[in-house]
Amino acid sequence: MGTQVKAIQIKQHGGPEVLELVEVTVPAPQENEVTIRQKALGLNFIDTYFRTGLYKHDLPHGLGFEGAGIVEAVGSGVKHLKVGDRVAYGQSPIGAYAEARNMPVNQLVKLPKQISFEEAAGAMLKGLTAQYLLRQTYRLQGGETILFHAAAGGVGLIACQWAKALGVKLIGTVSSPEKAALAKAHGAWETIDYTREDVAARVLELTNGAKVPVVYDGVGKSTWLASLDSLQPRGLMVSFGNASGPVEGVNLGILAAKGSLYVTRPTLAAHVNTREKLQAAADELFDMIKKKKIRINIGQRYRLEDVAQAHIDLESRKTTGATILTLD
Ligand code: NDP
Repeated sequence: MGTQVKAIQIKQHGGPEVLELVEVTVPAPQENEVTIRQKALGLNFIDTYFRTGLYKHDLPHGLGFEGAGIVEAVGSGVKHLKVGDRVAYGQSPIGAYAEARNMPVNQLVKLPKQISFEEAAGAMLKGLTAQYLLRQTYRLQGGETILFHAAAGGVGLIACQWAKALGVKLIGTVSSPEKAALAKAHGAWETIDYTREDVAARVLELTNGAKVPVVYDGVGKSTWLASLDSLQPRGLMVSFGNASGPVEGVNLGILAAKGSLYVTRPTLAAHVNTREKLQAAADELFDMIKKKKIRINIGQRYRLEDVAQAHIDLESRKTTGATILTLD
C-alpha cells in the first residue's frame, strides 16, 4: 500500500550531481501525520549544507524543509486538519523535495486563503526565520539601525521589509549593484557591496560613528570579523548561517577585545518547537503578508527535476529572493 511519487534523494554527499530523481513510496500516514500532495517547494541554503555533508543525516535521504500543498490523507489521531485543507511547513523532518510526503501534524499550519502555495513555499522557512531573528533573538525597536548580511537573498528580502515596517533602518550587504537596488526596493535603508567595500568602515560612516546594536550574519566565515567590528560595545552578533563557510576556531577573548560583545548561534527549530509557538510566529508572518507589509519575492523557479541547477545557481550567488521548485 502507498502512493508512488517522484522525489529527490542523495545517496552520498557531494556537489549538485549527487541529487537524484527517484520514485519513492509514500506510506499511509501514521497516527499523528498527514499526507500532503505538494503544490510548491522552497529551496534554502540549508539544503546545500545537507547535500555537501556540512550538516549530517543518515544516508540515503531526501532533501528540503519547506513546502505547501493539500492534505490528501490524515492519520487516526489527527484532530485539527482534514482532507482538502491547504497547509504549509518550513522545518524538519528533511525531505520536502517530493510530489507528496507525510508530515507530523505539529509541524504544519493551515494556510490562509489569501496566501498562495508559492508564497507559502517561499515564506515558511525564510519568513519564520526573519520573524524570530527580528522579533525574538533581538526584539527590534523603531529608530534602531542594524546590519543584515546577504540582504537580497531569501531571508534577506523578507528581513528588509520587516525592518522597514518596524521603523528600523536596515543596512544590507550585497555583492552587486543589481542586488543593492533590489534590497533598497524592499525597504533596506542603505546597502554596502561587501565584495568591494570595507563593511565596518561603511557602517561607522553611515551611523555617524555609533555603529549598530545587532548584526544578523547568515554569511559566516567571510563576514565574521567585519560583523564584530560593526557592533557597538555590548552589541549582539547573531550568527545564523554559513553561506561562505562555517565560523570555526573562535577564541572567546575576541568578544572582550571588540567591546564586551554577545554572540548567539540560533536555529529556527528551537523557536517553533511547539505547535503553539509555530502557530504564533506563523500568524504574525501571515498577518504581515496579508497586510502587504511583506511581499514574498520569488526570484526564480525551477522544476523539481532541475533542482541541481537551482543548487548551482544558489551557491554561485546568482539567485535573489526566494527560489521555488515547481511540481507538474
Ligand atoms: P540566500 O538566498 O540568502 O543565499 C545566500 C546568499 O549569501 C547569496 O545569495 C549571497 O548573496 C550570500 N553569500 C555571501 N557569500 C557567499 C558565498 N561564498 N557563497 C554563496 N553565497 C554567498 O539563502 P537563504 O535565504 O536560504 O539563507 C540565508 C542564510 O541564512 C544561509 O546562511 C542559511 O543557512 C541561513 N539560515 C539560517 C536559519 C537559522 O534558523 N539558523 C534559517 C534559514 C536560513 P550576495 O551575492 O549578495 O553576497
